[in-house]
Amino acid sequence: KYYEPLQVGFQSANSGGKIPLGLKRKGLRIVVTGGAGFVGSHLVDRLIARGDSVIVVDNFFTGRKENVMHHFKNPRFELIRHDVVEPLLLEVDQIYHLACPASPVHYKHNPVKTIKTNVVGTLNMLGLAKRVGARFLLTSTSEVYGDPLQHPQVETYWGNVNPIGVRSCYDEGKRTAETLAMDYHRGAGVEVRIARIFNTYGPRMCIDDGRVVSNFVAQALRKEPMTVYGDGKQTRSFQFVSDLENNFCFEWGALPTSNAENMGAGQPLIGFELSACEFLARLSECSLYALWCRAFSIKITYSDDYLYWSHASVSSKLRSLHVFVQVVQETIDPNARIEFRPNTEDDPHKRKPDITKAKDLLGWEPKIPLRKAIVLRLLKLAGYFLFLPDNERL
Ligand code: NAD
Ligand code: UDP
Ligand code: UDP
Repeated sequence: KYYEPLQVGFQSANSGGKIPLGLKRKGLRIVVTGGAGFVGSHLVDRLIARGDSVIVVDNFFTGRKENVMHHFKNPRFELIRHDVVEPLLLEVDQIYHLACPASPVHYKHNPVKTIKTNVVGTLNMLGLAKRVGARFLLTSTSEVYGDPLQHPQVETYWGNVNPIGVRSCYDEGKRTAETLAMDYHRGAGVEVRIARIFNTYGPRMCIDDGRVVSNFVAQALRKEPMTVYGDGKQTRSFQFVSDLENNFCFEWGALPTSNAENMGAGQPLIGFELSACEFLARLSECSLYALWCRAFSIKITYSDDYLYWSHASVSSKLRSLHVFVQVVQETIDPNARIEFRPNTEDDPHKRKPDITKAKDLLGWEPKIPLRKAIVLRLLKLAGYFLFLPDNERL
């Protein structure tokens, strides 16, 4: 009886029973919107591998069937071509709502569509969550901080966003999506999780995705100059999205009890908490921000191992774009050149998450240095496999 809630899925997890971590759990029915995209397809792999049934809902704007086709013969996998801007009727236990183009090139392509996806799409998925009593996870973004005036960004920072700029369809769209999620939580009791993800790269990114890591690699492969927008002094923190072979998951089960209690305001780490953590763990080599609905928030990131770039900076803490460029040169093309281009409008000058809470509350610290992720990992870009050799100079 004690273990019952987890055996019958998350719906009963609310009954308050304490469930030991690591207990074998019944598979859940999960919908992943945007599951044919870069991050979504890695999440789908993870959920399928742990025994859940997954319905991917995607309109294939930036996603590809190829990202999930290895599951086509699995009876626990289903793929639906659907635009989240339209209502959707499904019966599921959990909703991971990722559908939204993430690269500036793509989300600026049709800004009205982007904001509709963020607002109407999120509203529909929250309506679905409310109707079926499913828990809901929104992948939000570090972009909600806009061009941050506080650095590094803490969970409580409200951001500095231009509401009428060319990036607003995405960052204001995500801010509204967060608002909707919290309003459905407060007003309709929907259990929500919001993960604010910082810049992520890795296998299955489209080679023409438009974001900086894939751009530099693709440009070097095509013998084109690497395009640095603006003066190159802007900073970001990067995370590598782990593939299945990699096992850098955070050991949630090893959490000290006191920390586990802090985590859910007295709630044990059960049901969705566990799966949310697993989801977050898949991104955990990386910088990741998560807000739990009970005003608990964690942030997972590389400690001081961000990849910064600034062609002018050689300070010990900052990693320069020049170094990043150098890695691309050493691994792909030693003759790869740099070309400076005018920067895009409203480009955030700096971005870096503060991870103090994750350390304090979870005792968690990132273990995989970013340099290893970049240098040692396999970068698979649209059929290109790049084995990047170890390089201690990075
Ligand atoms: P992606 O473009 O690879 O994936 C987005 C997926 O959503 C694609 O499969 C696309 O076809 C689908 N989609 C877009 N609009 C849709 C719609 N109206 N209806 C149904 N499906 C739709 O991007 P990604 O990098 O995998 O990002 C996934 C999520 O993570 C997004 O919500 C994004 O905002 C968030 N995020 C990603 C990053 C990152 O660095 N990758 C950073 C912050 C936040
Ligand atoms: N919705 C959906 N699937 C569902 C339930 C709702 O797509 O299973 C959509 C619904 O069409 C509506 C939105 O979600 O546009 C919000 O639903 P909610 O019930 O919260 O609001 P209402 O329909 O009362 O405006
Ligand atoms: N950028 C660049 N060259 C490129 C693509 C991007 O210099 O070919 C810069 C961009 O101006 C921004 C940073 O790299 O300052 C990260 O851009 P990206 O599009 O990857 O993600 P963002 O953080 O803007 O969402």
